[in-house]
Amino acid sequence: MWWILLLAVWNAAGQDPAARIHRDALVFDAHTHMVNRQLYLGGDIGVRVADGQVDLPRAKEGGLDGMFFTVYVSEQYYPGHFETKQALRLLDLAHSQIRRNADKVAIAYTASDVERISKQGKIAAVLDLEGGFDLSGDLGVLRSLYNLGLRVAQLPAHNWANSFAESCCAAGAVKGLNEQGRAVVKEMNRLGMVINISHASDATIEDVLATSTDPVIATHHGLRSFNDIPRTMSEPLLKKLAAKGGVMGFHMGCEFHSRPFFDFRTRQAGRAFWDTREIGKKEAELTILDIDRLVSKSYPMVGIQAPEELKLTVDDWFKVVDRAIEVAGEDHVALGTDFDGGPTPPRGMRDIRDLPMLTQAMLKRGYSEARIRKFLGGNTLRVLRAVTER
Ligand SMILES: [Zn+2]
Repeated sequence: MWWILLLAVWNAAGQDPAARIHRDALVFDAHTHMVNRQLYLGGDIGVRVADGQVDLPRAKEGGLDGMFFTVYVSEQYYPGHFETKQALRLLDLAHSQIRRNADKVAIAYTASDVERISKQGKIAAVLDLEGGFDLSGDLGVLRSLYNLGLRVAQLPAHNWANSFAESCCAAGAVKGLNEQGRAVVKEMNRLGMVINISHASDATIEDVLATSTDPVIATHHGLRSFNDIPRTMSEPLLKKLAAKGGVMGFHMGCEFHSRPFFDFRTRQAGRAFWDTREIGKKEAELTILDIDRLVSKSYPMVGIQAPEELKLTVDDWFKVVDRAIEVAGEDHVALGTDFDGGPTPPRGMRDIRDLPMLTQAMLKRGYSEARIRKFLGGNTLRVLRAVTER
């Protein structure tokens, strides 16, 4: 009789609709930090580690099929103008780590590449630059980065000001995009690079939407109606992003979507997480290796220790997504976790392994399978296709 029991268990597993949808859907994370950890702490993206929030084995366990594979140049590299050098070091590391794990991951340049690679059972990695683009907006540097495989990039220098695109979170000389910034947008359109407007100021986002001929994506974001900080997006701006065919990825951190949680984190750290005013003169005197040592202290980047009751539940987290769907429609929301970039995930969620919790929550909220698939990856893939397969 044991086989009847086995069959019952088998059927129960097979019929779990959330597990089935999560397995069948293309799960694509629009913002996951993969190689910064390896630069500072050593190791390999293909090896499971005890700390941190993401590595390839855990991503696979979470059902991930593809990601914007983010290489991140933190602000400390900008005062000494090491930003491009740091981007090159990280891209080199990304290529070597991906090569070393060719059985688990492969670089994707187009949406069709993502589909082909995920069908082979591997994770598709679209190289994505967070900050790190030349502070002067040199188009030759942009083309060189493209030639190194980069297909997604932010315009501002993370939370730092550069000379062509205003950041959300630092006072700079330029408001919105200036002429050079518009030239960068046009060149990204011409090359077929996805423009990431996360970390841009409202004026920059307006200017990008007016200039770009392609849809753009805010890869890891939140709504200002839930947390009024410069790093989140107003609802009218989200509407404009959607009207242009764009997508907003939802950050996994409670600090983005809950004002009480944001205030708690700010009190603990003594500064808002996007505030870079302390960075400047000291860093300008240092070598790049000194800066590596300085930045390495913040790794692994895993969010903060906080009382469980202060954290959002996964259901609360989806209230933000629900509101965005009300404002912009289900074709414009996506997953953009920022794992290993420091989000404090909702209650009960450990790291990228727990992405199936999101599908369970969406099903419980009554999302259709089509809507769930759009959120998990379909929408981001649509933008990637529009930009890379013209
Ligand atoms: Zn970011």
